[in-house]
Amino acid sequence: MKIIVIGAVAGGTSAAAKARRNDDSAEIVIYEKDQDISYSGCGLPYFIGGKVASIMELTPRTPEFFKTKYNIDVHIHHEVLKINICDKNVIIKNLETGAIFEDRYDKLIISTGAQAFVPPIKGIELENVFFLRNVQDALKIKTFMNNHKPQTAVVVGTGFIGFEVMENLLACGIQVTLVERAGKLTPNLDADMSQYLEKLLKQKAIPILKNANVVEATAQGVILEDGSLVPGEMIIVATGVKPNVSLAREAGLLLGVTGALRVDERMMTIDTDIYACGDCIETWSSVTKKPHYRPLGSTANKTGRICGENITGGNVIYPGNLSTGIFKVFDISIGSTGLSEAEALKEGYDVEIVHNIKPDKPGYYGGREMLIKAIADRATQKLLGVQIIGYEGVDKRLDVFVTLITYGATVAEFFDLDLGYAPPFSTTKDPIHYTGMILD
Ligand code: FAD
Repeated sequence: MKIIVIGAVAGGTSAAAKARRNDDSAEIVIYEKDQDISYSGCGLPYFIGGKVASIMELTPRTPEFFKTKYNIDVHIHHEVLKINICDKNVIIKNLETGAIFEDRYDKLIISTGAQAFVPPIKGIELENVFFLRNVQDALKIKTFMNNHKPQTAVVVGTGFIGFEVMENLLACGIQVTLVERAGKLTPNLDADMSQYLEKLLKQKAIPILKNANVVEATAQGVILEDGSLVPGEMIIVATGVKPNVSLAREAGLLLGVTGALRVDERMMTIDTDIYACGDCIETWSSVTKKPHYRPLGSTANKTGRICGENITGGNVIYPGNLSTGIFKVFDISIGSTGLSEAEALKEGYDVEIVHNIKPDKPGYYGGREMLIKAIADRATQKLLGVQIIGYEGVDKRLDVFVTLITYGATVAEFFDLDLGYAPPFSTTKDPIHYTGMILD
């Protein structure tokens, strides 16, 4: 059997490695148009800030590694131009030599990922305007910083990447203004939680402009719709991503309602010999079962592994996801999972909302405020979603709530959880217990 994989970052390499573990004899080939493979995109902001000293730490694997460890042939600088479904082959261009050739597959895995969304801003092509999607983007930002020593920057967009970049530029001594087109910060948070986050950030004197629509980028900063200039010698645009689906679309594969590639719960496309994974696919909410687009490294790795399993005869089912996300900005952690209040109301749930403010550990051990917003369904007494903002232990609480939602616990059952307790970690009754007690 010959397996061809398109794309060699999180989804593609997970799929190929799993396929190899299941099948010793298959020929496995990966085509990647860029030069960097299997890297940690999530670590890129910390390379910019210097916490990650060398880019090599984020790109530890080479084509030689995949050959030696897995007997997988990874061809970098090779772009797949076309998929011929009927002939079961792909047309590839060697970007170094310009040679174009075809390669035949028995099974094909599409893991073409996503690209930065480019908003319609005049001057976006200027040399001081950057996106952060891959290793080369991060290197370009670093080079600009080294060469020009900017003192000011504008970050456009307040998703997790915008915040992470802001924090890391500040760590380099650059003064940053955060600019957001919407009336609230961070798409995943409800407006009330976003306000709370804004309050915490104000205490740290971070200039944040909301309802600020950037219309032009210049060498001096960005110009907003009202004509004002927000100064910034460098501009980072972090306004989301869109799936790379042109190859799949042109091959005749079906896209979903979100515009990403449609797969079934085994990661199979409408062609039984073509599977797909990672940021190029549409997944679905495990709460509503409805399609959504949630491009995350956690999901790319899982869906990649499922592809590798199923393409080699397995039968693993992907249950969907809760859109769980977490990020930190300075000492503040922000996590969310499941439906927001706004989404739950839109879905027609009769929601019960709790805002639970509790210390993350006892005051005598330095406990600090943690705000948990829980969104529950009155009819079933089960959680639909949670948003948490705090300092320490946000990740632990978020993951426990993920588990409770995943296994369908009722709010009355939260109190039964025998959670670990000692002063450095929590309070005797944990904020999770309290959330259940208030909701019950
Ligand atoms: P990609 O990483 O987009 O890789 C797809 C690859 O396919 C690319 O290298 C591309 O060149 C190649 N390709 C595309 N078309 C072709 C073609 N025609 N021929 C050959 N090759 C092709 N996720 C989290 O869960 N947590 C985080 O904290 C987090 N932080 C992040 C921070 C940053 C700054 C960024 C950029 C992302 C972050 N992510 C995070 C998201 C995570 O990095 C992505 O979800 C993950 O990289 C997706 O992997 P992928 O393999 O699906 O796609």
